[in-house]
Amino acid sequence: MKCPACGYPESKVTDSRPTEEGVSIRRRRQCLSCGKRFTTYEIIDTVVPVVLKKNGTREYFDRNKLLVGLLKACEKRPVDARKIAEEIESEISNSLRTEITSAEIGELAMERLRTADAVAYVRFASVHREFKDVDSFVKEIAHMKDEDSTLK
Ligand SMILES: [Zn+2]
Repeated sequence: MKCPACGYPESKVTDSRPTEEGVSIRRRRQCLSCGKRFTTYEIIDTVVPVVLKKNGTREYFDRNKLLVGLLKACEKRPVDARKIAEEIESEISNSLRTEITSAEIGELAMERLRTADAVAYVRFASVHREFKDVDSFVKEIAHMKDEDSTLK
């Protein structure tokens, strides 16, 4: 941040507070060379994580894409797909990670669906895990039943 008076590149921050809208930070600065005081406004850059997809391409995380998959899985089921998508989004953004794989996002979704609704879970898992055959599908369901019975 160059001093507007002398152009010196170093300044110290004497005060820092968010603006009323909360989208930028107002900083009072003082030039380390000439002592001139000036104010800067810095836009808060929300970190949108990059999703590394199975085919090796990267794209910015898009809640709507996740939501489409969840809505399909939750069709006619008593599950709030939107709420789940929001929870996953905030979990990812709270982790402050800049990159996440699509497989990890899928796992986050399955964790939630598993406890929310078995049918929605199996639907989502069948797409996400790409069950190759009936056997692996049956195994997954058997696995769920095992876990259920250990809970009771
Ligand atoms: Zn200066």
